[in-house]
Order: sequence, then C-alpha cells, then structure tokens
Amino acid sequence: VVAGMVVPLAACGGTRGDDASKNGSSGSSKVSVGISMPEQQLERWQIDGDNLKKKLEEYGYEVTLQFADGKTDLQSSQIQNMANQGANYIVVASIDGTATGAAVEQAAANGAKIIAYDRLIMNTDAVDYYTTFSLDEVGKMQGRYIVDKLGLEDGKKGPFNVELMSGSPTDNNAKYYYQGSWSVLGTYFDSGVLKSKSGKIPTSQDEWQSIGIDNWDRQKGQAEMENRINSFYNDGTKLDAVLAPNDAIALGTVNAVEGAGWSYFPIITGQDAEKANVQAIVQGKQAMTVYKDTRELAKTTAELIKDMVDGKKPEAKDTFNNGNKDVPSVLLKPISVDKSNVKKELVDSGYISAADAGL
Ligand code: BGC
Repeated sequence: VVAGMVVPLAACGGTRGDDASKNGSSGSSKVSVGISMPEQQLERWQIDGDNLKKKLEEYGYEVTLQFADGKTDLQSSQIQNMANQGANYIVVASIDGTATGAAVEQAAANGAKIIAYDRLIMNTDAVDYYTTFSLDEVGKMQGRYIVDKLGLEDGKKGPFNVELMSGSPTDNNAKYYYQGSWSVLGTYFDSGVLKSKSGKIPTSQDEWQSIGIDNWDRQKGQAEMENRINSFYNDGTKLDAVLAPNDAIALGTVNAVEGAGWSYFPIITGQDAEKANVQAIVQGKQAMTVYKDTRELAKTTAELIKDMVDGKKPEAKDTFNNGNKDVPSVLLKPISVDKSNVKKELVDSGYISAADAGL
C-alpha cells in the first residue's frame, strides 16, 4: 500500500471489529462515526476502541471501528475509506501524527469532523478537537517516582545509574512524556547525582527522538536494554533505575533484566496499567505505572461528539498547538500507581479484576 492510496475496505483485512458493512444500511439520517485505532498489540487500544464504540452506539450512532496494525499507510487508507463512506465524525489515535495529516485533510474536505484521540495529529488545520491525558504530567510522575525512591530529595548523593528511553519518534506524546520526565530528572543529571553509563542522555529536549523506541515496541525496548546491560552493566555495576516510557517497553526491560540473571530489579517505570504489568508490579519486578483510565477518555470523547451532534459547543478548556493551530483540547488526569495503591486505584475502581492484577 502506497502512502495516500485509497484501498477498498475489503482489502484492509485482519481488522477485528470491522463492522463497516453496517454503514449506510440503516438510513442516511443516522450519525456515522469512524474510529481509527493504531494497533492491537497493546491491550489499551482494544479497550479504548471497544469502550468508545459502545458509548457511541448507546447514543444511537453507527460506528465503524478499525485497527491499523501499526501501519501508517493502512491507517490512512482506513480513514479515507471511512470518509468516503460518509462518516460524519472520525476519531483517530494516529500511528504517525504527521503522516496522518493528509488523510484527515481529505476526510475533513468530505465534511467529516476530526477528533484526535490520545495522540495529536500534527501540522494540519483538519483537527477539530483533541482528547487525551495531561501529557507532561505522565512523564513527571515517572520522573518523580525515580527521584522519590532513590531518596534524592532526602539528600542521597549517589551517584545512581539511570537508563533513559523515550517512546515512538513519530508520536507527539512521546516528546511531551520525555519533556515531563526530564523536567524532573534533568537537574540531577546536571549535578551528577544521576548518571547514565550508556551516555544516552539527550542533551536538548529536541533530541528526545534519539532514545525513542520505534512504535513503542516491547521487543525493540527489550533489545535496547539487552544491549545496554551487556555493554555497560555486566561487570556488576548496579543499574538503579530505568525510565521506561510505557508498559510495553517496561515489560521488555523486565525481560532484559531477567535474562541478565540479576538478583534485583532496578526501579522500572511504565504507563498504561496493562494487566501483565500490573502483575509485574505486584510481583515486585516493575516499580510503577501511570494509570490512565481509558474508560474516562472514551466517555469524554463520546460526549464531545454528542455535543457536536446536538449542535452544542463541546467544553474543551485547554489547547494544544499542533504546529498549525491551537487545537481545543480536553486533558484528563493520570494517576501514579505502584504496589501500595494497585488495589485502590485499579481493582476497587473496576479497571481490572483482582485475579488479573495477580492479587
Ligand atoms: C499512549 C500510551 C501508549 C503508547 C503506545 C501513547 O501515545 O499515550 O498510552 O502506551 O502510545 O501505544
């Protein structure tokens, strides 16, 4: 599939939840919404997609939900097809925030309203709203956790070894997450309390991509950590903490540490509260995760669409600049979770069951 090429829906095989065929069969007066999610490797996108679809269907809208298998071109084709089939609203969690621009511009020209979901679509006017979680706060929570657990605020001088990674270089979120964590950790690197034996410390925030893990991929994260461990920490040097930007990369890091056969786990951060990671937290392998209640994000997004359908102006107090415009945005609050509050935040709130949490 070539970038920008339109592929018939039938050719976009393997997309679970593809119910596009319903479109158009129940009268043209129905509101039609397309949802384009990036992939299904991570639990969260499946949950996000399902919750959003359910909410929108409760409002009586026709919903097409598709997953793009981590492939930018496929996502663009899916969006274009949704537009061609008359979607009035298209919700996009983009794989590559910049590359998606052309497809949403075409969809907007077809009359669709575009909502960027979780990840911003960059450098285009064709984004009407953006719903996400406070981006830099996610990174700050990861940074603060490391600072706190190493006792740096209590005056511990280290030096401590910390390895840093960031998320997908094509995901605008990854930049903000990294900036957030660096805003907390940077001063300790500057003063020498924190060190990184690999030397992989982006010196300016613009260089965050140099430590980005493509597609937030678990295996790539694992390979990266195996390399760093083999090159710098296999002589008994203690690795005190790893800034893993999300749970996929955290799990890769846990695997790399287990593979190295160490008798301890560094402080490993994460994000998403994926089941396997929550279990790893309960087992003391991963230290923390940043929980973003995707049920809330789906609800907020569905309500925002309903407002537009009903002719009301959605409440979106914040703005996020995408390079072209200030996109009206809704920012939800993330929550820092470790062993001490897993039960309260995740189980008691019904986000995951006690059994799935390994409790
Ligand atoms: C999301 C994270 C997710 C990552 C990988 C980011 O844009 O905000 O929740 O872990 O993508 O899918």
